[in-house]
Amino acid sequence: MVTLRHFRDLPEALLAKGCLDSADIECTLVGDNVVRLGWFWSNAMGGVQLKVAPSDADAANELLTQPIPEKFEVAGIGAYQQPHCPNCQSLDVTFQELNRPVSYMTMWLNVPIPVYRRAWRCHSCDVEWEDDGIPGPADSPA
Ligand SMILES: [Zn+2]
Repeated sequence: MVTLRHFRDLPEALLAKGCLDSADIECTLVGDNVVRLGWFWSNAMGGVQLKVAPSDADAANELLTQPIPEKFEVAGIGAYQQPHCPNCQSLDVTFQELNRPVSYMTMWLNVPIPVYRRAWRCHSCDVEWEDDGIPGPADSPA
């Protein structure tokens, strides 16, 4: 197996894996258990690696550089609905976890409470909105 991509965050890695799974390209995520522990360990361990067979690397690479599909099946999760910007309908959005220093602090204290806020950000118009799909003001503090 060869490493095709590196991901810092698990959602992005699962997105890419789902994309390859839907095209029947066998792939493996290495390090996803580490990432589940938290972003700090993810950074420390180099994030998640997406590995494919060398013979599939070209096809997989081509697939991942194509435009983002709006919806597909993710193994173990089910249908994945690619979120789109509620403001301009762009699919060019990124999932991010805000308040990361706070998240790090609770992990350091060994209190596994997810206090961080999950939010999406649109690269086309800079709108941010939370996971419930309600858009927030573009100038909200990150
Ligand atoms: Zn937008």
